[in-house]
Amino acid sequence: MSAVAQKRDYYEVLGVPRDADADAIKKAYRRAALKYHPDRNPDDAEAEIRFKESAEAYEVLSDPEKRQRYDQFGHRGLEGAAMHDFSGMGVEDIFSMFNDIFGGSMFGGRRRRGGVDLEMELGLTLEEVESGVEKTIEFDRNDVCNHCHGSGGEPGSSRRSCPTCGGYGQVEQSTGFGALFGRIVTACPACRGRGSVIAKPCKACRGSGRERVRRKLAVQIPAGIRDRQGVRVAGEGEPDDSGQRGDLHVYARIHKHALFQRRGDDLMCQVPISFAQAALGAKIEVPSLGGRVELTVPAGTQHGQVFRLTGKGMPHVGTGRRGDELIQVWIEVPRKLNKRQAELLREYAASEDQSVLPESKGFFDKVTEFFSGSGKKNSAHR
Ligand SMILES: [Zn+2]
Ligand SMILES: [Zn+2]
Repeated sequence: MSAVAQKRDYYEVLGVPRDADADAIKKAYRRAALKYHPDRNPDDAEAEIRFKESAEAYEVLSDPEKRQRYDQFGHRGLEGAAMHDFSGMGVEDIFSMFNDIFGGSMFGGRRRRGGVDLEMELGLTLEEVESGVEKTIEFDRNDVCNHCHGSGGEPGSSRRSCPTCGGYGQVEQSTGFGALFGRIVTACPACRGRGSVIAKPCKACRGSGRERVRRKLAVQIPAGIRDRQGVRVAGEGEPDDSGQRGDLHVYARIHKHALFQRRGDDLMCQVPISFAQAALGAKIEVPSLGGRVELTVPAGTQHGQVFRLTGKGMPHVGTGRRGDELIQVWIEVPRKLNKRQAELLREYAASEDQSVLPESKGFFDKVTEFFSGSGKKNSAHR
């Protein structure tokens, strides 16, 4: 894959030393993401590439397992690892993916004005992601109190003038900065500036106007959603003081699959074959999400070779176009051979003039032989 060869070093991308700790990596990524964010670099394709590149570097370096593979083997070490295809992702998706780092509010202008947003994670299987699914979710949220409809007062009870501010809604406070800025006027803390307080607080919510309510609703998860990508359910967040509701963000967390690893819209699957199958060619059955598929492995197949099943991958979340399934074959060396098989293999080795170990003696026999001197001369096996 030529793309691998062109990739920049992840540490270089984030500008951190190779021994940087998790915190330093997180900070470096946040810095890079802010610097290259498309909002700050409109119509700058280079910035967008840098933005995505730093997301990819962060995905690897923030994951201890991937980082180790990368440290040991470089970009090649990540082949077959579950990685996001950032180049194909929208900026918004990347932001929602690393939502915990950006705290959601970093680019405040993009969010709704009112209400309190809620976030939750939803576990999904790869099969559910493949088809798209409707999931019923349940969560608790602070809602408008049903008894007082948010007023905080018992139904029918009136408000009375606030005793703290005398109905002005404002109070003067000393600042403690001496004569220069002696006193400031602030909103009254007792009535929050309204000038009146509830005469008889609501029994259900003790005057807060809010109650904890369990909410159950169905959410449509689009086919092909990426791990950590969010679905926004408008108006299912919590109400603010004005009663306007925020949104609910449901983030996909896709379970590890026993057979498939996802890489963008492609699926990777590793399948063992025998030495004989690799050498002579074979028709083998391989798993796909749609069921078993026949794959012809040609004669002379090498260990680690990859075969592509076009259109057997995941649907793209936007277009529905399917990625491919990549089958990587592993040549399994038999741990045990019967006598006949061993004979055949010895014959085979002899035909190629290859040296192999003689029929195995026990380890302790070999040790005895070695110390008795006979093994020293013959220690290079024929
Ligand atoms: Zn109430
Ligand atoms: Zn007051």
